[in-house]
Order: sequence, then C-alpha cells, then structure tokens
Amino acid sequence: MRNPNAALIPCHICNAEISRKAPKCPSCGTVTRYQAAAQRWSAVFILVLLGFALFAWYGLEQRKQAARNDANRALQRLNSAAKSAENALDAFNSP
Ligand SMILES: [Zn+2]
Repeated sequence: MRNPNAALIPCHICNAEISRKAPKCPSCGTVTRYQAAAQRWSAVFILVLLGFALFAWYGLEQRKQAARNDANRALQRLNSAAKSAENALDAFNSP
C-alpha cells in the first residue's frame, strides 16, 4: 500500500507540507511546481496542436493550389482543342 504522506511535498516558498497535486499552496497561495509544470505542459501541448493544425492547413492549401493548377492546365488544353476544332471546321466550310 502507498503511504499517503509520500504525496506530500514541502512548498518551495514557505516550506509548508502540501499535496503534490495541489494547484496552490494552502499556506502562502503560491502556485506549486506540479501545477506550474502542468501549465507548462498544457502550453506545450497546445503549441504542438497548433503546429499540427497549421501543418495540416498548409498541406490542404498546397493540394488546393495543385488542384487549381491542374484544372487551369486542363482548361487550357480544352481551349486549344476547341480552337483547333474551330479552325478545322472553318477549313472544312470554306470553299
Ligand atoms: Zn507555500
């Protein structure tokens, strides 16, 4: 069995015994190292998440741009095909 006292740590400011997982020291009100670390890790986590979101968004934009380029090239090919068809038709219709 775990000793519940093992979860008690001294406050790094006032030295009062506080729970390791307490967000604040009940004696002096300072934010505990555990809480500070938890806040640091949530900040890191959020930054990583934002990084991934940005990366995914950038990839999506790249693919959209590539699709637009493909569509433009296809349209150009269609236009030139239509022009040569028109020219062929003109040549056919002219006496
Ligand atoms: Zn304290």
